[in-house]
Amino acid sequence: MIDGERILALFVNAGFSVTDDPSVADIIVVNTCAFIKEATQEAVDTILETAEFKKTGRCETLIVSGCFSQRYGDKAKPELPEVDIWAGVNDWEAVLSKLIDDGRNRRGGGDISDATDNIKSVSGNKQGGFRRILSEPLSTQYIKIAEGCSHGCTFCVIPSIRGRFKSRGINDILQEAEWLYGQGARELILVAQDTSFYGRDIGASLTALLEALLRGTGFPWIRMMYLHPNFVSDDLLNLVAAESRICPYFDIPLQHISDVILTAMNRTPLSAGIYALTERIRKTVPNATLRSSFIVGFPGETEKEFGELRKFIQFASFDKLGLFPYSPEEGTGAYAMRPRPSTRTAQRRCAELMSIQQEISRGLAEAKVGTDADVIIDRISDDPDFNYEGRTAGDAPEVDGRVFVSSGSFEVGQIARMRIIGAGDYDLFV
Ligand code: SF4
Repeated sequence: MIDGERILALFVNAGFSVTDDPSVADIIVVNTCAFIKEATQEAVDTILETAEFKKTGRCETLIVSGCFSQRYGDKAKPELPEVDIWAGVNDWEAVLSKLIDDGRNRRGGGDISDATDNIKSVSGNKQGGFRRILSEPLSTQYIKIAEGCSHGCTFCVIPSIRGRFKSRGINDILQEAEWLYGQGARELILVAQDTSFYGRDIGASLTALLEALLRGTGFPWIRMMYLHPNFVSDDLLNLVAAESRICPYFDIPLQHISDVILTAMNRTPLSAGIYALTERIRKTVPNATLRSSFIVGFPGETEKEFGELRKFIQFASFDKLGLFPYSPEEGTGAYAMRPRPSTRTAQRRCAELMSIQQEISRGLAEAKVGTDADVIIDRISDDPDFNYEGRTAGDAPEVDGRVFVSSGSFEVGQIARMRIIGAGDYDLFV
C-alpha cells in the first residue's frame, strides 16, 4: 500500500489530480505484487479487470507497476497488450516525464486512479510536495524504513526483484513519521523486508531508529513487523521491555525448525539458535506477543523434518502463526531442489499444524478473559451488535485478531483500557 501511496504523491506533485473512481480516470495505475504464484495470478486478474475501463470508462493509459512488472514485464508484454506502460520498481521518474511530455498532467487534463489501493482521501503536504497520498485516513499508518533484502533465502524472489537492502536515513523516516502523526495516525508500523537489519548499511540500527521515533514523535504505539531471527539484538529486546510505547510484538518469520531444511533454505540461525531466541524474548519481555510464519512442504521435508516442526510449534506456543505450503518460484535456488513433497502432502501437513495452532490460540485467547488490555479503536463497527472494532497491542492490523467493543463512546484512534469479557478463536470481546 505504501508504494501505491508514494506513486500517487509523485503524480500529484507533477500536476495530476487524483480520483477514487477508475471509470473517470484518464490514467490508471495497477500496482502489483508477484512474490508467489497466487499473488501473480491476482495481479493478472486485476490488470484484466482494470483494462475494461479502456472500453467502459475514460482510461487511455493503463500503467502496471511494482513486482509483477519488474519480474514478468518483458514476458507479459505480448500477453497483455492492454497495458500501455510497464513500470519497474524504480522507473517512475521516466514514466512521469513521458506522461508530462505527452501533456497528460492537469494542464493536459489528466486524472489518475490507483486501481489497487482504492483512494479514500487525499491529504498531507510536506516541504514542497506530497510525501504520500493516504489511501485510508486511518489512525494506523505504515512506514517503510528500508527497501530490498540482502539475505539469500533459496525460496525467495524478493532480492532479485527489489535489490539489496537499503536503509532510509533516520531523519527522513522521522520527518515522514511526524507528518503521519500530524495527519492523525496514532499507531506507527515499521515495515521493510527485514526491519531488524535496519541501519547496518548506514551505521545506524533499529534500536537507534526507535529511540529517535520515541523522542521525536508522539505516537503512543510503535510496532515493528518482519524481524529476521538472526538480528534480534539484546539491545532491541531491552528497549521494548523498557518502553511502553513500543508494542511488545515480535513478528519473526522463522520458516522452519529442522536444520536440514533451514540449511537448504540458506537460513540462520539453525534450530538451537531459534529455540534460544524464543526463550530470550520470553525472558526479557514477559508480556511479548510472538508471531511467526513457516513454510511447509519445502524440498527435502520428510515426515522426520515435519515432525520436528510439529514439536516446535507445540513447544513454542506462538500467539500468532502463519502457515504456508511451499510455493516453487522460478528463478530461485530452491526451484530445482528435489525431492519435493507433493502439494497434497504439503496441504495435509499445513492443515495438521493449523489445527494444533487453533487449540493453542483458543487457550491463549480464553486466558485473556477477565483481564484488562489497552485497545486502539480502528473503526465504527459495521456489525450492529458492536459499536467499534479495535485491537490490542498484541494484534497487528489485517493479519491478527480484532477486539469487538459493545459499549462506551470512543474516537477512532483513541487507545483505552478495557476489560475483556469474552474470546473467540482469534478475536476478543469487551
Ligand atoms: S529475509 Fe525475507 S525477503 Fe530476504 S531473502 Fe529471506 S525471505 Fe526473502
